[in-house]
Amino acid sequence: MPKNSVLGFPRIGEKRELKFALENYWSQKCDFSDVEKIAKELKQRHWNYQKEAGIELISCNDFSYYDLMLDTTVMLGAIPSRFRDISDPTDLYFAMARGDKEHTAMQMTKWFNTNYHYIVPELNSQMPFTLNTEKVVGELHEAREACISPKVNLIGPLTYLALAKDDNGTDTLEHFDNLLVLYAELLSTLAQNGAEYVQIDEPIFATDVDAEMLSLLKIAYEKLAKVSDKIKLIVTTYFNHSVEATNVLVHTPVYGIGLDLLYGKKSLESLDTIALSGKQLFAGVIDGRNVWRNDIEKTKQLLETIATHIDREKITIATSCSLLHTPYTLRYEEKLENEVKSWLAFALEKLDEINLLTKLFFNGRLTAEEEAALEENRRANISRQHSKTIHDEKVQKRIAGAVAVERATPYEQRIKIQREELGYADLATTTIGSFPQTTELRQARREFKNGAIDRSSYESVMKQYIDECVAFQESVGLDVLVHGEPERNDMVEYFGEMLEGFAFSQNGWVQSYGSRCVKPPLIFGDVSRPKAMTLYWSQYAQSKTHKHMKGMLTGPVTILNWSFVRDDKPRSEVAKQIAVAISDEVDDLQNGGIKIIQIDEAAFKEGYPLRKEQISAYEKWALESFKISVASADAATQIHTHMCYSNFNDIMPTIEAMGADVITIETARSGNRLLRIFKETGYRQEVGPGIYDIHSPRIPTVDEMVGQIKALQEVLPQQQLWINPDCGLKTRKWEEVRPSLKNMVEAVHIVRKETAS
Ligand code: GLN
Ligand code: ZN
Repeated sequence: MPKNSVLGFPRIGEKRELKFALENYWSQKCDFSDVEKIAKELKQRHWNYQKEAGIELISCNDFSYYDLMLDTTVMLGAIPSRFRDISDPTDLYFAMARGDKEHTAMQMTKWFNTNYHYIVPELNSQMPFTLNTEKVVGELHEAREACISPKVNLIGPLTYLALAKDDNGTDTLEHFDNLLVLYAELLSTLAQNGAEYVQIDEPIFATDVDAEMLSLLKIAYEKLAKVSDKIKLIVTTYFNHSVEATNVLVHTPVYGIGLDLLYGKKSLESLDTIALSGKQLFAGVIDGRNVWRNDIEKTKQLLETIATHIDREKITIATSCSLLHTPYTLRYEEKLENEVKSWLAFALEKLDEINLLTKLFFNGRLTAEEEAALEENRRANISRQHSKTIHDEKVQKRIAGAVAVERATPYEQRIKIQREELGYADLATTTIGSFPQTTELRQARREFKNGAIDRSSYESVMKQYIDECVAFQESVGLDVLVHGEPERNDMVEYFGEMLEGFAFSQNGWVQSYGSRCVKPPLIFGDVSRPKAMTLYWSQYAQSKTHKHMKGMLTGPVTILNWSFVRDDKPRSEVAKQIAVAISDEVDDLQNGGIKIIQIDEAAFKEGYPLRKEQISAYEKWALESFKISVASADAATQIHTHMCYSNFNDIMPTIEAMGADVITIETARSGNRLLRIFKETGYRQEVGPGIYDIHSPRIPTVDEMVGQIKALQEVLPQQQLWINPDCGLKTRKWEEVRPSLKNMVEAVHIVRKETAS
């Protein structure tokens, strides 16, 4: 029986080797064979790491040049017809992933509640499913040549179908029978090629699933587990509990069941059921989604509890999910404070944790070296409980005390006061905050950070940019101006760098999509704001214009959702600490003469739990955090918020309750469907539905935007409408931004004139 298992390993490379190789290939600086060479090295290296750390079940086919859902699409021959003119398989693969001159890319979306994005399968009734096992069989042989006895990773047929879309809107489960045949064929091919363990991921069953899905689950694994008696099938879920699926799987002939016992504690209720079935439990107890060092003794305790239900040899110690969602290693971190570093474990360090835990749980006796490692783990965890760097009494007292949650004046009164004081017309024009980031800006920020230039030269670059931004906005006649955010590298990192309780790794990259990686901040301790963070720049910008300058902040929920958050406190409490810090900033801004303040909550919807039963608890604290951050705003201070494209249908009352006065949203890509929801739900506050898509370099014409504004007026009265692009402009070029905004303002003038006459 395997004592331990890793569900999957990151593939981009500890120095992001795959990223750079891919990007070189895409810009025609190397051949694909160069990328293949790097890929081979990475796979070998990652297998070796795991082997050396004593991991028994090591995955193959967890590698991908772009994305595993896309690989599955290729494996199943589910190629959308628009790509079928491409004969070269490599060209085809990357055209599906990224598009090319003649082909629009396939859609990409977030993998459950992570920040990883997968390529959405596009199915239809004519889809000629055919099995292509080249990649998976290839990796199986590669792994065996590397002298490991691998477990083959697959994405399960039901998760694949549930995440797919059908071009004609038909239920994607219609393809179930076809797919099942292919999966059976695949397993028999794998058996012929010597595979022994196959891990099939079915994370869809960690969400709310209906009876049909559960009955298909039974049919699927009843059949697949019987394909070959040489193969041991492990059906794995993660990110939440999957109690319903477990109840089904125990009645199928699968070998093992993988459960996330950290993010799905409810799955512990399934232990007796699993014990009764005699199946192997892959107990996900090593956190695959966070970066904190495991408390080995506590985890050992959890395993012992499990062992009171299930025989010890029927337990395999596993990661909670693939380690894809964690950075590689602390090895290259030279600047992290030693204390903070001692509390962390990235993917490689987690391998050692699994090893130690395995020895402790199965052998009981440790070598001197292991004993020392355990002692070090113990010490780190104790230090984490008491460290002054983490625990700030002042912050804790303030959070426990009376924190204002409500703005003093109700919306109807506030908006009257604001419209009088601010004096803006209907269809007021504004932008979402950032203007094009230039190489000069990036260079100045970098040089200031590493001491190559002094503060005054840095500031003069920023100020000159702000001057130009303001002058440009005045010249086109925008109503409410922004400073352009030249001083910000990233909307979360910028604030994290100025708040206590945050740390930043140098190399903590995590794959977001394709070759793109993000480096989330680490929130390790109590959060506070030593001094004002944005006031200086906002005041400077305001001094350059008589128009209103919008202050620009990132909201507490977004800061939380885009960071690695400490696990020794509930997320709700961390969010509250950040909220209080932001509310102090709001107060400083309004006292400093800034009358309009925007608080971005781009990731508000993203943090929603996968299970309905958990939504109301999340909504309660997420909403409260935002409200705390704006509670200090006077009635006359106008609060804006901005959310990027997400499905708002089910959260309208929550948005309305946030206490903002204006919300700007990304609607350009959904037409006016999204806006209609605002009307249907009787939304009262002001709305800026982005009237053009900033993700495209295309410059919208005046006519087009006149049409767009008129369409908006048909849905909501113009007194309620703001006119703006649908997101920040930092990824665009000035040559695109200048005419686009000029056209936008001109369109508003035309509509205003027509309405007046
Ligand atoms: N104010 C930010 C900007 O304009 C908002 C970005 C976002 O919504 N993702 O860049
Ligand atoms: Zn946005």
